[in-house]
Amino acid sequence: MEEFEEFDDFRDKQSTIGDDGSRVWVYPKKPKGTLYNYRKIVSLFLVAIFVILPFIKIKGDPLLLFNFLERKFIIFGVMFYPQDFHLFVLSMIAFIVFVVLFTVIFGRIFCGWICPQTIFMEFVYRQIEYWIEGNYSQQRKLDTSPLDFNKFWRKGSKHIIFYMISFISAHFFLAYIFGIDYVEDLILDGPKAHLAGFAGVIVFSAVHYFVFAKLREQVCIIICPYGRLQGVLLDRNSIVVSYDHKRGEPRGKYNPLEDREAKGKGDCVECGSCQAVCPTGIDIRNGTQLECINCTACIDACDSVMQRVKKPKGLIRYASERSIADKTKLKFNIRILFYSVVLSGLLILIAFLFSIRTEIESTILRQKGTMFQEYDSLHYSNIYSIQVINKTREALPVELKLDEPESGELKMVGDPLIVEKGQVGEAQFLVLIPKKDLKSSNTKVEFKVLSNGKEMDEIESTFVGPNSLDRK
Ligand code: SF4
Ligand code: SF4
Repeated sequence: MEEFEEFDDFRDKQSTIGDDGSRVWVYPKKPKGTLYNYRKIVSLFLVAIFVILPFIKIKGDPLLLFNFLERKFIIFGVMFYPQDFHLFVLSMIAFIVFVVLFTVIFGRIFCGWICPQTIFMEFVYRQIEYWIEGNYSQQRKLDTSPLDFNKFWRKGSKHIIFYMISFISAHFFLAYIFGIDYVEDLILDGPKAHLAGFAGVIVFSAVHYFVFAKLREQVCIIICPYGRLQGVLLDRNSIVVSYDHKRGEPRGKYNPLEDREAKGKGDCVECGSCQAVCPTGIDIRNGTQLECINCTACIDACDSVMQRVKKPKGLIRYASERSIADKTKLKFNIRILFYSVVLSGLLILIAFLFSIRTEIESTILRQKGTMFQEYDSLHYSNIYSIQVINKTREALPVELKLDEPESGELKMVGDPLIVEKGQVGEAQFLVLIPKKDLKSSNTKVEFKVLSNGKEMDEIESTFVGPNSLDRK
């Protein structure tokens, strides 16, 4: 765009890296405005959900659990075990495709409104910073001033509070992995009784503190893979936070006595407010940039300037590059269609897999290293073992029935099998088949797995007998 040629040097450098390669610390001005107020409400709601969810249980189990170490997952009350891994992976793929599709249409809206990094940074840590160190200019002054009592107590108390919040957050993160009961035990029993858990809390809190006290916007600009993907996900139709260069350029300082139109000036009064509030330190007037997290702070800032200079709001607004250039609306393109088809296909597949998901998972194997035995003068026997995974929320008594051949008999070894919820149970049993009914050395046998009289599973196996010569 010719309009931007004179400002094109922004492409040669990164807003948070100085000419000497050192980090340029960003001191964003506290935003004010309608969108900021909405974001505050959304953030409050999401932080409340983050804190409340670990306490919500269904029949004694958490609503959400992501126990990667024991490979146990509960998503909205549905338990997933290693045997359900395909379901979990498909759900994750569907989620990623959904995010991609959403990004193609609505840009990086997730980053500005929902991403935990933005929520914690802008509405928790940054608020504490404004409260203790003052506004952006006071913060900058404090950072460059020599260490005195004022700087010592402000910096000291800020970092202590930052670490305390990180420490508390680490407990909640741990609750999403091991459940709130484990965290309660950890707190009540003390570190000595749960050394691994305590080490987890320390590592989590240190990472959390480092991310929000030091790394900050670098996470969005450099580390976040989603942020790095924006270049391939966004196109000219994506709705992002955009500067209306058609309306704003050529920019020029505001002079209340001047007729801007007569002088050929656009609506941008070069006040710098949009840049001052930007948490990633960029100038949105340069166009869509990877660093932009679509936080909308610049929209609020510019709207308030437009109000003051008596111009219509929306010089910076949610819009697609095409709609600004051509004044057209969002078009349903091939890419959106393709992602929609893939997403629908995945959702149908997941729904199907969920519908055929059984409450128990059972495996029957002939006992390793055993052949057939002559049980008595009329029967041969084989010994089997059964393994049952109970995916329900209650203990299940498991019974076995031999369905085929009808003349066979099944005898359990030891106590009746009862499998606790979420556990794996094992038992051995014998199958006796009359000698006269064995027509070959390998006979198909069919079992029914029952619990409280209800059929839960059907399994096939083989019964080994002597070969035909031995049987004569
Ligand atoms: S806030 Fe609006 S008027 Fe001020 S520099 Fe930014 S785009 Fe221009
Ligand atoms: S350019 Fe605007 S929307 Fe993008 S990060 Fe900066 S302030 Fe937020």
